[in-house]
Amino acid sequence: MLERPDIVAVMVGVAVEGPYTYRVPPGMSVTRGSIVAVPLGPRLTLGVVWGPPKDMVAHNRLKDIAQAYDVPPLSEELLKLVDWVARYTLAAPGQVLRAVLRSTEALDSPRPVVAYRRTGHEPDKLTPARLRVLDALNDDLAWAKPALIGAAGCSASVIEGLERAGAIERLEMPPPPVVQPPDPDAAIARLNDEQQAAFDQIAALDPHRFGVALLDGVTGGGKTEVFFEAVADTLRAGRQAVILLPEIALTHTFLERFTKRFGTRPAEWHSDMTPVQRGRVWRGVLDGTVRAVVGARSALFLPFRELGMLVLDEEHDGAYKQSEGVNYHARDMAVVRAHLANARVILSSATPSVETRNNANTGRYAHVLLTSRFAEAAMPNITAIDMRTDGPDKGQWIAPQLAREVFSAIERGEQALLFLNRRGYAPLTLCRSCGHQYQCPDCSAWMVEHRFRGVLMCHHCGHETRTPKACGACGEVDALIAVGPGIERIAEEAAARFPDARRVVLSSDMGSNAQLRDRFSEIERGEYDLIIGTQLVSKGHHFEKLTVVGVLDADLGLAHGDPRAAEKTFQILTQVAGRAGRASRNGKAFLQTYHPDHPVMRAMVTGDREAFYAHELAAREAGGLPPFGRLAALIVSANEHDVAMNYAKKLLSAAPMADGVKLFGPADAPVAMVRGRHRVRLLAQSGKDFDLSGYVRFWLGSADKITGNLRVQVDIDPMSF
Ligand code: ADP
Ligand code: ZN
Repeated sequence: MLERPDIVAVMVGVAVEGPYTYRVPPGMSVTRGSIVAVPLGPRLTLGVVWGPPKDMVAHNRLKDIAQAYDVPPLSEELLKLVDWVARYTLAAPGQVLRAVLRSTEALDSPRPVVAYRRTGHEPDKLTPARLRVLDALNDDLAWAKPALIGAAGCSASVIEGLERAGAIERLEMPPPPVVQPPDPDAAIARLNDEQQAAFDQIAALDPHRFGVALLDGVTGGGKTEVFFEAVADTLRAGRQAVILLPEIALTHTFLERFTKRFGTRPAEWHSDMTPVQRGRVWRGVLDGTVRAVVGARSALFLPFRELGMLVLDEEHDGAYKQSEGVNYHARDMAVVRAHLANARVILSSATPSVETRNNANTGRYAHVLLTSRFAEAAMPNITAIDMRTDGPDKGQWIAPQLAREVFSAIERGEQALLFLNRRGYAPLTLCRSCGHQYQCPDCSAWMVEHRFRGVLMCHHCGHETRTPKACGACGEVDALIAVGPGIERIAEEAAARFPDARRVVLSSDMGSNAQLRDRFSEIERGEYDLIIGTQLVSKGHHFEKLTVVGVLDADLGLAHGDPRAAEKTFQILTQVAGRAGRASRNGKAFLQTYHPDHPVMRAMVTGDREAFYAHELAAREAGGLPPFGRLAALIVSANEHDVAMNYAKKLLSAAPMADGVKLFGPADAPVAMVRGRHRVRLLAQSGKDFDLSGYVRFWLGSADKITGNLRVQVDIDPMSF
């Protein structure tokens, strides 16, 4: 495979422009994809043999590969993915490779299991203990040592004595798999007609070739059952499958559903696992003992060898975009990986991203629809409450009509949900006496009061101070007033207005993942009447008794001028309204809005999704915005605003001329200051068939060298623009 097997290029898993050249010491054999440890500076670093060296280096100046691990080489497809992601996102290939190699514990071979079996040879001397051992082994099967000790009620020395006497033999067996392999036939779902038609449409995609299906189905439409059957099909064909979820740590019900369907828990992949657990899954994926993984976006970089199916549940979710280190979007990279692996992708959502909907409209993706809810569940009835005319009294946030509906739901023994997508007590704190507004010292953000914890907190960087007793500017005591509502303030109003309801407040800052999971289970068991929560409760959950949903501020980010605001608002509203009436009782959702005539509100109330997508796609096309054009953001940051701004201006003047590329800025970034660093943004916009990544790479390659504390980050396909 390699022309000069004694000299190879090794990509190291650090953020450098690799690969580097190393010597293969005599007696070691490696191939492209082999995982190795190499000396890099003073340390040993993990790396992967990338192929023949790019340029010839004098043999005697090369360092030797220190170790080649006894694991299967990474697949060609995965190595190509690393190159592809690096080229597209402008990250160093080594930095992308690090996402692949993150579980190094996995490389030390798992310890084999010691077991014993009878040889048929009778020992000269038989004691009662020896007899019990031989008895236990009567069925000729091998027994693991601890199990045998337990069954025979003897000490280890009895077993070792029998081994020396030649009556039993010692075996080293491979360790048990991380998880039992999923059984595709454990509990095959009985699909209804619409689900069956959806499944057939997916099954019609050639399983040995690249193909993408958008599973576009209403909330509660039974999308999960459909893609489970597609996963089962993949497993039957002997290929591996991965299901990505946006917030896996909180979706225990999903794991339970998988367990029911496939007879065993899936292998998991997320940040709540210990390094040892992750290492075992990584290793199992690589050696093929793990057949299906349910994980967070980074599961995309697991070393599958025979990947046949990738599912992205809630494909529209912003959590799929990684915005630190390598700026990749898991949805787009899943499609790339599937392309390289000749695999199929299912993108599942009740509110597909505008990008994905466009791909379905143009026929690039199969468009698979589920238009009605499963069984007798009906879609919730949605009403807009015009806050200009029908709002609550001053100082309250729950409109009278919504309050009445919440009351009667609770009276009927059902559950109600009050939703506000804002953590804390109030988004803005100011002094009544002098008007001083509390701002984060490190960011361009207001401090948010968290009254339960008695702190002011910055939601950008997490900076906290105790809520001061006296104003920091004028010294007036007890003069701080809260402006606007946060979820804690809604909880306070709910406590006053529904004092007898069993209430629960859910927000991501209110407990560990384990605690939050407990709360969700309690809700499912009907232990609460009124749920008060942030976006955390809007996704994926199936609360059977929930019939009334109130969205306290449906306008969300509509006023912010971000061209993606309409899409995001539509998605959140549909998801949260979709929590209502998922079982036999009909649901109602109420949207408190100051803009009842906005296209998003109108689409929600009339249930006309198509009108929303048509309107949104037309607006994007008119502006040359994704998916009809490409965008790249260059964020220049520095400790001083002037330094960042001046460099950005220089960068702009150094931009290469290219047909159809438009440049915008420099201007303060949407979040203008983070952790004490000022951020200035340049935007590049191009047509959709233009290689904007290549353009930006060329641009930065010719720009002035970066000095001091300046930094330039590139974000291809930025989420906010
Ligand atoms: P979605 O993912 O589209 O929001 P789900 O897959 O969660 O919808 O399905 C909604 C409810 O209907 C779930 O409780 C699910 O168990 C049930 N369900 C869906 N399809 C079936 C089926 N074929 N057989 C039995 N129950 C189903
Ligand atoms: Zn801050």
